[in-house]
Amino acid sequence: MRFDDKTVFVTGGGSGIGRATAIGCAEEGAAVVVADVDRDAAEGTATAIEAADGEATARELDVRDAEALTEAIDATAEESGLDVLINNAGVSHPRSDMEDIEGETRDRVIDINTKGVWNGCRAAIPQFKAQGSGAIVNTASLAGLIGMPGGAAYSLSKGAVVNFTRAIAAELGSHGVRANAVCPGVVETPLVTGDRDPEEWEGLRDRMAGEYPLGRLGRPEDVANAIRFLASEEAAWITGHALVVDGGYSCS
Ligand code: NAD
Repeated sequence: MRFDDKTVFVTGGGSGIGRATAIGCAEEGAAVVVADVDRDAAEGTATAIEAADGEATARELDVRDAEALTEAIDATAEESGLDVLINNAGVSHPRSDMEDIEGETRDRVIDINTKGVWNGCRAAIPQFKAQGSGAIVNTASLAGLIGMPGGAAYSLSKGAVVNFTRAIAAELGSHGVRANAVCPGVVETPLVTGDRDPEEWEGLRDRMAGEYPLGRLGRPEDVANAIRFLASEEAAWITGHALVVDGGYSCS
């Protein structure tokens, strides 16, 4: 299996894309560390993995806390080694014109989506360099590549993740370490459905699905499959890439 004897550390592993990624990596043999600010969610994913005879550890942490992330990544490396880091934790903000987005909202999005990725990489890269191997996959967004009205702070955070990924890929290649990003279109997860009324959401989902050439929104597994590929040896000669996973949304 693709992740036999490998250890994969996933942030935001308690829900949505991170949960599907953690479960998918475990199904392919990985020992998975499920890190999330939501302890119950992290434990829920770890329990699901263990129930399927997989190996998982839940860790409650906030990716904004560089020290906590370093401590968790160091402990993982010491206990079982570290092969793959998936910086996936992220948040969005209500759609709004740029000038109406409060500084506090902007800072929260940047701190989690961008500095959180920085903190994860800063913690893992010394370990990866020392062992001469490692794969990083950062969850960016289609909003980091194309302009999406109403999402200025989110776009700011995700555009930075895309180009940060390219920068570290260029730095790390000679150390045997790869770094890539995924750029999903709209995926049906709590980040998108939020606290919307289910009926209102169904109508909105159907309208949005009509804008996708493949006729539907994304499922967490659609993105998890792309992340697993980039994290695996099958992608051994791919680094610095931002892989669009969007049902064709951006091709027209
Ligand atoms: P989600 O809300 O289902 O899951 C996000 C997880 O991250 C949650 O478990 C949450 O508790 C965790 N998290 C949030 N803040 C955190 C913090 N400070 N520290 C640690 N964990 C934290 O959302 P999702 O859709 O699965 O999002 C995963 C990633 O995918 C995010 O980076 C998001 O920006 C990105 N993304 C999502 C979509 C989409 O349409 N759903 C599209 C493009 C990109």
